[in-house]
Formats: sequence, C-alpha cells, structure tokens
Amino acid sequence: MKFLVMPGDGIGPEIVPVAVSALETLNRKLGLGISLETVDIGFASLETSGNTFPDEALEKARDADGTIMGPTDTLAYPPLAEGGRGPSAFMRTGLDLYANIRPAKTRSGVPSTVGNMDLVFARENTEGFYADRSMYLGNGEMMLTKDVAISVRKITREASLKIAEAAFKLAMQRRRKVTIVTKRNVLKMTDGLFHDTVREVAQDYPEVEVDDVIIDAMSALMVRTPDAFDVVCTSNMYGDILSDLGNELAGGLGLGGTINAGDDHVMAQAVHGSAPDIAGQDIANPTAMVLSLAMMLDWIAAREQDNKLKEAGHRLGAALDAQLSKTATQTRDLGGPLGCKAFGEALVKRLEDEA
Ligand code: NAD
Repeated sequence: MKFLVMPGDGIGPEIVPVAVSALETLNRKLGLGISLETVDIGFASLETSGNTFPDEALEKARDADGTIMGPTDTLAYPPLAEGGRGPSAFMRTGLDLYANIRPAKTRSGVPSTVGNMDLVFARENTEGFYADRSMYLGNGEMMLTKDVAISVRKITREASLKIAEAAFKLAMQRRRKVTIVTKRNVLKMTDGLFHDTVREVAQDYPEVEVDDVIIDAMSALMVRTPDAFDVVCTSNMYGDILSDLGNELAGGLGLGGTINAGDDHVMAQAVHGSAPDIAGQDIANPTAMVLSLAMMLDWIAAREQDNKLKEAGHRLGAALDAQLSKTATQTRDLGGPLGCKAFGEALVKRLEDEA
C-alpha cells in the first residue's frame, strides 16, 4: 500500500511529520506494509518547479492509496498564471473527492466553550461557491468592470445526491439524525435543489430522522444546543465555515480532523489552514493532522476490509484521546505545556508502549 505525503506551507512541515512518525510507528508495529513517498507542494514546489501544485503531485496521488496533505497558504499564492494553483481545489476536483467529512466534538479534559457536542459535517466538496473549481473551463469569478465583481455558485443534483448518500450512510453508523443546512429561504433555486435532493435520498433511509435548519440559525444553534446535532449535510462553503466554528467551540481549530473522500480516493487534511501567525514556532497543535490520518486509515480499512488498518486507525484515535485527556499532555493552544514536536514524541511513545 502506498501513501503520498504533501507537507504544505506554514505549520504544515511541523504537523505533518507528527502524523508521519505516528504512521511509521504503527506501520512497523502492526506490519501494515505501507510505503511513504513525499512530494512538495505550495511554496516549496513554487521555488523548484514554478508551480504550487505540480502536475506530478496529482498523478502520484491518483496512484496512491491515500494522501496526507498539510495545509497550504493559498491566500499568499501568486495568480494562476504565475504558478499559484490551489492544491485542495486540484485534489478535490481532480480525484472527485466529493465528501468532506469533518467531525467536531467536545472531549473530556479539553476546555470548550459549549456543552456536549459530537457532530460530523458531511460537506459537499467539489462545487458551490468555490468559483475556482466549479467550471469546466475558466473561473466562476469575474470582474465586469473594475468596480463590479461577480462569482457564480454551482449546485448540481449529482453532487448533492452523492453528499446526501455519504451523510445518510454516516448517520446509520451514528445516532441516525441528519440536519440539512442551507439558505433556501433566499437561494431558492440552488439551495432549494440541494435541500430537495437530500430529502429525496432521505426516503431511502426511513430510520434516519431528518430536519433542516437555515445556515444563520445553525450558527446560533450550534452554540445554544450543540448536542441536538448528529450529521450535518451541507454545501461547500457553509460546511467550511461551520466546521471551523464547531471545532473552535469544541476547544480549538487545531482539533479539526477531516478526510476528503470519493469512491476511489481519500485524502487526510486538517480543517484549519497554514496558520502563518504561529508557523516556525513549534506551538501548533498537530491533533487535527493526526486525527485526519486516523480517519483515513478507518476509511481505507472499511473499503478494503483490512483488519490491520482498522486496528491502526483505532490505536491512533485511542492514543490521541489519551493524550488530549490531560492538560499535562496537551499543546499550548489548549492550555497544556507541550510544543508540537514534544506532543508528537509523546504520541509515538504511547503507540510504541502498546502491546
Ligand atoms: P488558519 O486556519 O490557518 O488560522 C486561523 C487561526 O487558528 C490562527 O490564529 C491560527 O494560529 C490558529 N490555528 C490554526 N491551526 C492551528 C493549529 N493546528 N494549532 C494551533 N492553532 C491553530 O486560517 P487563516 O489564518 O485564515 O489562513 C491561513 C492560510 O491558510 C490562508 O492562506 C488560507 O487560504 C489557508 N487555508 C488553507 C486551508 C487548507 O489548506 N486546507 C484551509 C483554510 C485556510
């Protein structure tokens, strides 16, 4: 089995090695037979190849069984014509990673700003308001004059069906509730189509309770009654914003793990960005990156019916839970004493010490 590693920008080269060390430990202990290859993206590859996402990165990812992608500093990239390609956009559309699965949960031992929360966003990942990835050719964002800019939002029945299926399958393994989040009171056609399509899929899952909430109310309800939600099915930008909110409420952005999954490919990638404000200081929390890896191992294990990988995902999740359960073994963003590297070393030790 082959995994591809893309360290990314900012804190990427600090948090990705933590996930890689944990994987190498599990690989050796459980005999997983995973080989790892690293490919530069972001500013590292802009320097060497003139492009923030070289073609070979996508080709290698297509060949790999899974990809670990660090966050990228897309805001600082040069225009497309000067080599500034958004790696997430290329990966998500290029490999049809239509489902972005983003949990947000409170944990005992981690200070949070809300009561109990254990929800998962099933975020559509390939269209919506992301103008740089919604078009076959060209870009969905344009300037009509120097003072007038517009962007086009694309919602399709096909992509809505796919994310709805992913959401209901997930709900069947959890508390059997799906909340559809839209702004269909205003965006009656696009969000109306998304909503109606998810409702249509709901008919195949009579065991699952379904409700729908408007995005603005959802951001209030996540604070007021976070335990009321299980799986939240939503379109691209709403899911992006709400999952940051969910993870910050649960304790911090550094906790937000995610996988980007399609029918054939999967990528582990933290919810958060490259955090340039803390890059290079060894204070980033690598939890999100490690949790994303654990989720990716689970996803591949389920697809391949591979018990060893399942065990690896389980051990990694359990080691993270243990590490996060006490302030003494947490990173500074959560109030603990550990830097990124020390957190990683402690995590590896936990994995090593297990029978
Ligand atoms: P950000 O998510 O990088 O940071 C927001 C805040 O959260 C910052 O204060 C940061 O220090 C903190 N934070 C983030 N991750 C953390 C971690 N692991 N541990 C501790 N604190 C953490 O958002 P931003 O500053 O708006 O974006 C920075 C860059 O990242 C931009 O170029 C943006 O486009 C890009 N971005 C990339 C991705 C991605 O690669 N998937 C996602 C979001 C943003």
